[in-house]
Amino acid sequence: MEVIINILTIISIMALIFVVAYLIYTGHSKKIEKLKRGICPECGAINTEAEQIISTKALNSAGCSGVRDIEYHCKGCDYKTIEKSTSRGCGI
Ligand SMILES: [Zn+2]
Repeated sequence: MEVIINILTIISIMALIFVVAYLIYTGHSKKIEKLKRGICPECGAINTEAEQIISTKALNSAGCSGVRDIEYHCKGCDYKTIEKSTSRGCGI
């Protein structure tokens, strides 16, 4: 009986860890989704034609393939994040 309880405890702890990791992951990807659309996830500033509130900068722009770091910076609230981006060709 004790063994079964232990297994149940382990399973519920693992499920909890999974849920937390999932929430962190989806929250993070939502932020990136916003940044890619030109919206700051922190203060809600939006890029306009007149002003680029959120600037993007490729940190390692060597070559056209592989993973590169893109730095997003919001001028409104000074929010800054660096994201890994797998490039499809020489787009960015
Ligand atoms: Zn901002």
